[in-house]
Amino acid sequence: MSECLFCRIAAKSIPAKIVHEDEGFVAFEDIHPQAPVHILLIPRRHVSSLNEASEADRGLLGDLLLAARRLAKEKGIETSGYRVVMNTMAGAGQSVFHVHLHLLGGRKFSWPPG
Ligand code: 5GP
Ligand code: ZN
Repeated sequence: MSECLFCRIAAKSIPAKIVHEDEGFVAFEDIHPQAPVHILLIPRRHVSSLNEASEADRGLLGDLLLAARRLAKEKGIETSGYRVVMNTMAGAGQSVFHVHLHLLGGRKFSWPPG
């Protein structure tokens, strides 16, 4: 079994509130939500960060964004606004090294981010 937290969530060996899954992706609620809607989207395939993504992951990365868009619609934040974030490396706030998108919405966000 993988040591990676998100691989284990995808394999359901660690519980999470899964909101969507298919053959390529799993989406689940963040354990420490930073907004009324805070969902994490992960590919089932382990890629540790955007730095490790290659041309071969073009489809995977595109699918991840389109899945976020579909979930934003399902969660009713499509029009009010939402943010998709991919923290890459510790300096940007990445704490789990399995590539993931944060989908955040349901409140107003400021810019620039902290
Ligand atoms: P990062 O900081 O790497 O961009 O995002 C990792 C996210 O994973 C954080 O927002 C954190 O709250 C979330 N997280 C960490 N451990 C768990 C867990 O065991 N379950 C869930 N559902 N989320 C987690
Ligand atoms: Zn992993």
